[in-house]
Amino acid sequence: MQQPQPPLAQPRSTPEPLPEAREVVDGIWKITVPIPFPLRTVNVFALVGKHGWAMIDTSMGTPDTREALWKGLERAGLSLDNLRTIVLTHHHPDHVGLSGELQERSGANVFMHPIDEDAIRVIWAGKMSERFGRVSNFFSQHGMLPGDFWFTQVDPDVMRNLIRVPPHEKFTLVNDGEVITVAGEQYRVIWTPGHSDGQICLLRERDGVFLAADHVLPRITPNIGLYSEKDRPNPLGDYLASLAKVADLPASIVLPGHGEPFTGLAERTAQITQHHYDREKQILALLDQQPQHANRVAEQLFSHRWNNSEARRMAVAETLSHLEHLRFSGQAEQHRTSDGLLLYSVV
Ligand SMILES: [Zn+2]
Ligand SMILES: [Zn+2]
Repeated sequence: MQQPQPPLAQPRSTPEPLPEAREVVDGIWKITVPIPFPLRTVNVFALVGKHGWAMIDTSMGTPDTREALWKGLERAGLSLDNLRTIVLTHHHPDHVGLSGELQERSGANVFMHPIDEDAIRVIWAGKMSERFGRVSNFFSQHGMLPGDFWFTQVDPDVMRNLIRVPPHEKFTLVNDGEVITVAGEQYRVIWTPGHSDGQICLLRERDGVFLAADHVLPRITPNIGLYSEKDRPNPLGDYLASLAKVADLPASIVLPGHGEPFTGLAERTAQITQHHYDREKQILALLDQQPQHANRVAEQLFSHRWNNSEARRMAVAETLSHLEHLRFSGQAEQHRTSDGLLLYSVV
């Protein structure tokens, strides 16, 4: 299973009572439920209109998450009978896991960007082992050992309970700049590739409510990783461009996929951008000592925070997004050794 967030940052230590269901903006409920990942919780937003309501992301199907979501919806006074729309911001499991079931039970229309709609089909709709095989091959060239590969042991039936997505024909695919009507209000779709290739944010232009998905989070930097040759090749370059794209939006409040709503979108994007440039300086200093593969670089940057092979894989993916960004900007280069490893060095 793909874990959407980095092992790089932990949530604050004071736990919120879960599920939390709180009206954060007039007619917008934040429902916070537990997830079995380092971030511990994910936010589902319910946008309530006169003629039905909409859900932004769906959380996933672990028993705890599921129970918390039903309770949260009940506290907000919402029933699936008038759930009209589901917006999936991106393909990660804690955002799409229950979308198949919720769509089936409500008949809701589902909006998603075409890139991530394609991704859920590849990853969660039956071709999982193919994807996992491809990702494992990809990581072996970057110095990871076979024991560190991911989820080869998870039973596909168990997986389908946790993550089930609607069939392709239930989706309405939306692209950058489109304006969509959700719960009676107009939202502009903003494509923000980086954290995932097809992630979208939504801006309600009349009052600046900004649904940021995992693009801009408070307290932690979203995981920006490279996981396969089939994905967009420079996710960190994409991400930095996507940060610049949203920095000056007239956002009155940011509603993130994890953590608390916040204000100050421009300041937060500037902080995250700076974090990535600082990390690149660190990486260049390591490459300056000797050419090395991504796994070796990741060990020096992150290993004190690893407690399992999944955390290692995410750290290597995060490191690779930096190495490739350095390569695209002409500061690093890559060469293949006789035993098939890819080493990076300073130009
Ligand atoms: Zn995510
Ligand atoms: Zn997330």
